[in-house]
Amino acid sequence: MSAADSAELTRPLLRRGWTAAPDPEQADAVVIATCTVRQHAEDRALSLIGSLRPWKESDPTRVQIESACAAERQKHWLEKRLTYIHLVVGAKSIDDYPRLVEAALDARFDVFSENRQAFDETPLLSPTGSSATAFLTIMRGCNYSCSYCIVPAVRGRESYRPVATLLEEARQRVGEGAKEIILLGQTVNSYSSEHAGKPVRLPDLLRLLDALPGIERLRFMSPHPFFVDERLAAAMAECRAVCEQLHLPAQSGSDRLLKLMRRNYTSDELLRKADLVRRYQPRVVVSTDIIVGFPTETDEDFEMTLALVERLAPASAYCFKYSPRAGTASASQPDDVPAPLKEERLARLNEVVDRLTQAALQSHVGRTIEILTEQAGFGRTRGGFKARWTGAPGRPGDLASIRVTDASRRTLLGEIHEL
Ligand code: SAH
Ligand code: SF4
Repeated sequence: MSAADSAELTRPLLRRGWTAAPDPEQADAVVIATCTVRQHAEDRALSLIGSLRPWKESDPTRVQIESACAAERQKHWLEKRLTYIHLVVGAKSIDDYPRLVEAALDARFDVFSENRQAFDETPLLSPTGSSATAFLTIMRGCNYSCSYCIVPAVRGRESYRPVATLLEEARQRVGEGAKEIILLGQTVNSYSSEHAGKPVRLPDLLRLLDALPGIERLRFMSPHPFFVDERLAAAMAECRAVCEQLHLPAQSGSDRLLKLMRRNYTSDELLRKADLVRRYQPRVVVSTDIIVGFPTETDEDFEMTLALVERLAPASAYCFKYSPRAGTASASQPDDVPAPLKEERLARLNEVVDRLTQAALQSHVGRTIEILTEQAGFGRTRGGFKARWTGAPGRPGDLASIRVTDASRRTLLGEIHEL
């Protein structure tokens, strides 16, 4: 999400004819997309902002812009304390961002405004770092209220981007060379809109995009388990471009904690959702998110989480230590799992996940599989695994097949079979 936000924040600058600088020293402007989902993320954003002070002070014409979620939460503090920052645009104002940037920059860099039209065709930086892949934000905000989560407070209620806009943007990205489109939203499968007089939910949108020429691969994240249903599973299986990949954030294996987290499913229900998709797409690669050390988590709760992870058998998992976020429901409860115990649980969980990742990678050895080249000699399988290969390296966007000979800790290794 942050990578996609960064690309969106860069867009108005590229339109004005600005180009990406390799480091701040050579930059006239720095735009920071800040995250606040955990305290650690916000601390890193604020420390980066602070570290740019000498850069800014050495040349007062330099422009510094802070945006996205930590900026939403800390807007007043940033504006009051760091008066040299030109613009603070919180996540809720993101739709207004291009206009705000134009206004802020017009005051300083008039010379570029006249040339604006000429640069409209400038190719955009890909948020994924490869021109082969493009993110497409289909909805903003979140209507859930998971008790640990700051997202609804900083991103607001759900809003859905119109289908016609999405189809047009997808066509543009394909025109710029993208072969893969990744649909984004906090609960991407609660998408709800209409097109040509008919309701459009995520399964319908997948079908509409699947029909566009030039899209080789489609992915979406993050779906909320509650909205994973038979219609979605069927659309995933039917659409040629939809990849065999499902990110299904579980958070915990303890039904007591899932209830306190207000996740709206039990661990059994979550497993049934994964089974449903696996029935339709037998090769689907599942990944998940887990939080350890949520308030009141006992050894028994944690064992249930380990058991759930074993049964779900994800190929990878993002595992986090609980971080209280001011203003969320669970922040009013004591953060009562001691830090060393959170650390120990995280390490045990990561051990299980590493073993599952290795098993998933090793199951590819000896097989010949399709790769979308992201950089020379590097790409991704439809299941989302990274792969490196020897032999013809290919160019970004090339579909190739490789024979997998081995795997490192996180990456498949192979040799080119056919380009
Ligand atoms: N909308 C997505 C999650 C977005 S936040 C979903 O519901 O799946 C990404 C992940 O960060 C979450 O899945 C959760 O595992 C983690 N996370 C969110 N808030 C957190 C907190 N306060 N402490 C620790 N991890 C958190
Ligand atoms: Fe946060 Fe829950 Fe919304 Fe995900 S669904 S963004 S975890 S409130």
